[in-house]
Amino acid sequence: MKNKILKLFRNNIQNLIPYQSARHIGGMHGNILLNANESPLSVCFKSKKKIFNRYPECQPNHLISLYASYVNLSCEQILVTRGADEGIELLIKSFCEPKKDAIIYCPPTYDMYKVSAKIAGVEIKEIPTIKNTWQLDLCNIKSNLIGVKLIYICNPNNPTGNLILLNDLINLLSITSNQCLVVVDEAYIEFSPTDTMTRYLSEYPNLVILRTLSKSFALAGIRCGFTLANQEIINILKKVISPYPISVPVTDIAVQALKEKNIQLMQNRVSMLNNHRIWLIKKLKSIQCVEKVFISQANYVLVKFFMFKEIFKTLWNKGIILRNQHDKKNLEKCIRISIGTHSENVLLIKELKIFSKKNMFSGGVSEK
Ligand SMILES: *Cc1c(COP(=O)(O)O)cnc(C)c1O
Repeated sequence: MKNKILKLFRNNIQNLIPYQSARHIGGMHGNILLNANESPLSVCFKSKKKIFNRYPECQPNHLISLYASYVNLSCEQILVTRGADEGIELLIKSFCEPKKDAIIYCPPTYDMYKVSAKIAGVEIKEIPTIKNTWQLDLCNIKSNLIGVKLIYICNPNNPTGNLILLNDLINLLSITSNQCLVVVDEAYIEFSPTDTMTRYLSEYPNLVILRTLSKSFALAGIRCGFTLANQEIINILKKVISPYPISVPVTDIAVQALKEKNIQLMQNRVSMLNNHRIWLIKKLKSIQCVEKVFISQANYVLVKFFMFKEIFKTLWNKGIILRNQHDKKNLEKCIRISIGTHSENVLLIKELKIFSKKNMFSGGVSEK
């Protein structure tokens, strides 16, 4: 009986390696969670709604108009989704024929592009970024466009932290203009706000941008994201999205978060975290067990360690939870560290120093 039911699963689901979320791997273990790029500080909101017998608006108007003014676009260019993750999936569902069309993504990058395509039975083409600069391999992308409907680019890229060169993005949009959509995932763009691509939406009809309230807005718990694109694309996505994706309490809280005063507070938190990042990178570079610290424009930093395995485990045992990247393409011995509060960052540095003292040969600090 049991075996027969297991045979009912689609082949691609039987073989699927699911997304390994931070909560999957670590649960809520640890008291310093630096593994999911969440905001280390919470913001207090109260849901004011008390009555829930009616379905919500399909696309909550007030929320859309507030986000439209935040990103300086029109309401017709915006779709609200259950996190940016739903946007990733909706695009594949709407544009890609299973077993026929493909998506391109550029590892090391966010894993959900791959996982969503695999669930949908859509082919994936991995075009790795250039090692260590993590910039796009445009030639390689260009020669692999046959059958491709969507190209996912994460900017700033997770987990490497770098920005993608604007010229390359523009170039990519031109190369692909009548052929496929370029989806720029701007989950972390508030940490480098002038680099947003929103101003190019009018010029490039094949541009789609993903946003979220999970990171800079400190609202990962409510699951709210946005897809920004031209009206024609948004209208297609509206045909595919589930009827009532955003619950009343989520809209209520998201609306409060997008009030001018709260946007200002978000921007203050962002600049504080950016300062913490600069501090942390400087400290990391002076620590012996650190082999290399990559440039970051987001609320996390990618670090290559000597003895990465032991370091990951030692910190885990002390309740400091980081994100191991060792098994990812081109990221041998790398760990991604989300920027915490100042005291969390101080503790992290302290533990890394203790580790270095115990385990590393003494000697001068090398160039990092
Ligand atoms: C966190 C993250 C997301 C997911 O955002 P949600 O709105 O929480 O679904 C999407 N893309 C990238 C690159 C992320 O790091």
